[in-house]
Amino acid sequence: MNDVVIKALAYNKTVRIYATSTTNTLNAIGKRLSYYPSALDAMGRVLSMGAMMGAMLKREETITLKVEGDGPIGKIIVDSDAHGNIRGYCDNPHCHFEYNDFRLNAKETVGKTGFISVIKDLKLKEPFIGSTPIISGEIAEDFAYYFQVSEQVPSAVGLGVLVDPKNTALASGGFIIQVMPDTPDEVITKIEEKLKIIPSVSEMLSSGYTAKDIIYNIGDDIEILDEIKVKFSCNCSKERFAKGIISLGTDEIKEMIDENKTQEAICHFCGNKYYFTKNDLNALYDIAKEKKA
Ligand code: ZN
Repeated sequence: MNDVVIKALAYNKTVRIYATSTTNTLNAIGKRLSYYPSALDAMGRVLSMGAMMGAMLKREETITLKVEGDGPIGKIIVDSDAHGNIRGYCDNPHCHFEYNDFRLNAKETVGKTGFISVIKDLKLKEPFIGSTPIISGEIAEDFAYYFQVSEQVPSAVGLGVLVDPKNTALASGGFIIQVMPDTPDEVITKIEEKLKIIPSVSEMLSSGYTAKDIIYNIGDDIEILDEIKVKFSCNCSKERFAKGIISLGTDEIKEMIDENKTQEAICHFCGNKYYFTKNDLNALYDIAKEKKA
């Protein structure tokens, strides 16, 4: 099954619902750096948020989600856009915590204090940056809090990931329900009642629900607006890394040149390696010098 994000309206167009499945993308990321189950679980949750928040953008806009808790996984970063291109990174993919009943413990993995930040490049002069504290560590509640406090959009968020003993995700996905200023109170009550009785995202995913099934399960009068394929995609390039080296400044580049060997740069998102020979570095030194002058 392809990874997908679906945008829909519900309850006579007064409620927005997003749902996503990100299983394949999550496994593409997990395989690269042999993620442990809890790291895969936490990454899957942020990845699903990234896919859905990407679908809220237009054209060339991009979004970066940063989850910086005090747990052992460290920083989790997800970049995505309006076309389903997504990539993810975490500091430490080798962490694993379970509850007594063997469910994966996201709180322990992510940490219970810290911040989530949302950086949107809306192709304006300055990017939009919103940040709120981590209130749970389970990601879904943390983003619901973010929407409420930072964007003033009351939202319900559900996320789930299922991982098998071989460190492969069997399912990863989630939903976001957002009410609008004109959503009638009785609709809000209906949604609240529904959220109490529907199965958890993990349960829905494990019984084979697709992203579309999730939407039909949580709303009435559904109107599907868009269905976007989600795929792992990294936009790194030698040029981007060269820019990074230039920004280090002449002193640091001089040090690299003096080491007298080809320098290797690794992309943390996709694992691609880029090599800079002494000649390359000399050229970058000249550019950095010009910039300084
Ligand atoms: Zn890359």
